[in-house]
Amino acid sequence: MKMAGFYDESISNGLGWRAVLFVSGCPHHCQGCHNKEAQDFNYGANFNKQEILTRIEENSILKGITISGGEPLCKENISEVVDFIHDVKKIKPHFNVWCYTGYTIEELIERKDKITNEALQEIDVLVDGRFKEDQKDPTLKFRGSKNQRIIDVKESKKNKKITELLI
Ligand code: SF4
Repeated sequence: MKMAGFYDESISNGLGWRAVLFVSGCPHHCQGCHNKEAQDFNYGANFNKQEILTRIEENSILKGITISGGEPLCKENISEVVDFIHDVKKIKPHFNVWCYTGYTIEELIERKDKITNEALQEIDVLVDGRFKEDQKDPTLKFRGSKNQRIIDVKESKKNKKITELLI
């Protein structure tokens, strides 16, 4: 897997101080994509998991990790993303995990495969759906267009209905 970027600390990619990994490669090709170069699976640097884990481990102000892209949950990236989240939780068990994806949560549930289920086990908050230029709204927090939802995955499972975070 290639990565389009990594922020050691950010407060604009989810609640609280977070490390942010931008993976490379995205099959969605949304019009008006904010990160067009990251659609290319060969864009960016090789993902050096150990180096990133060390940087996370050494940073004591972080409250969580956000995985963005590109598309973290496409078939090309999802296994390495899940493996990375597992390893992050080994060194930072208290971390919460946000993930940005162009898929809707319904599309992910519909896959009914092991690795997607594992991803949904590990992700606390899913910001879902493709970017839609005609629904773009710069006043929205943590998302680009109105169709995208900030979903509390664990609450959604418990309530058996999609439960959005009120931000
Ligand atoms: S899902 Fe995100 S990265 Fe992929 S094309 Fe759409 S806006 Fe760009």
